Amino acid sequence: METTKARSPERSRTHTKAPLNHTTIEAALAVSLARHGVTLAPRASGRFERFDAPDKPKGNGNGWYRIHSPLAASFGIWHQDVNEVVTLHGASDPEAAAQARLDAMRYRERRDRERQQRGAQAAEKARRWWAEAGPGDPSHPWLARKRLPPHALRQRGEMLLMPMYVEGELVNLERIFPDGSKRTLPGGRLEGVASLIGDLSGAERVLVAEGWSNAAALYEAMGCPVVIARNFAYLEEVAIGLRQRLPEAEITICGNDYHHLPAHGLPNIGRVAARHAALAIDATLLMPSFCEGCKTCTDFADVRLCRLGGDK
Ligand SMILES: [Zn+2]
Repeated sequence: METTKARSPERSRTHTKAPLNHTTIEAALAVSLARHGVTLAPRASGRFERFDAPDKPKGNGNGWYRIHSPLAASFGIWHQDVNEVVTLHGASDPEAAAQARLDAMRYRERRDRERQQRGAQAAEKARRWWAEAGPGDPSHPWLARKRLPPHALRQRGEMLLMPMYVEGELVNLERIFPDGSKRTLPGGRLEGVASLIGDLSGAERVLVAEGWSNAAALYEAMGCPVVIARNFAYLEEVAIGLRQRLPEAEITICGNDYHHLPAHGLPNIGRVAARHAALAIDATLLMPSFCEGCKTCTDFADVRLCRLGGDK
């Protein structure tokens, strides 16, 4: 799927003329970064320095900057397509601009290479752990709390392992700990990954849902295979992949309903993401119907537990 239009690097570049009251390139760079919501004290190390983009989780490292000289610096924010040159004296400094362009290209290449290496290492670990692991223990504290059988989950020590596939290939694992916290393998691939409960071969109806327990609850209730996206942000991508694989199947997108969010002025992201995913592949949309007066349920696993009288 090619959805992004090719853009020349020049077109996405802006050149920031530092305000005249800045006396150092560090200060000029700090101001330019602040315009993108990034607060930091730049260091003139001459090397690439990373920082966290403000709109992504902590530790994302999606930003970079480099101070080339006392007069010129450049920075970028990876996923926002931000790529800027900052010069201390005057806006037209072709040499600094060329240097920054080269830097951005080098940084991108290095980052791609590192990401691929880390992804390959994580996939190798995932395959090894998956092969070594035993079946999920039905009395695992998290499963017991959720009142769900392990299905195809496996277990390594106290961790339940949920396999994550891309085009049938195991690339990552989600580790589920007894307290319910979930972590994928560090560096492991997340784009396009999906997991599954049930069997897709010959399936006429397939559900797509966020998260394993939610998917398991749907499988218990409806008996058809459920493809699992990690969370709402991956629903559409997973839905599109599934539609390509099963062009004829009846696909239902099962959304989470974060019905408490609008009261706090926030969008109901679960519902919005599910609707987008359904529209993208012409699928049916299914939202949980909550128990009367219930304020805490957000997904199908919660509703099931509420009805069974368990705690979430
Ligand atoms: Zn409830």
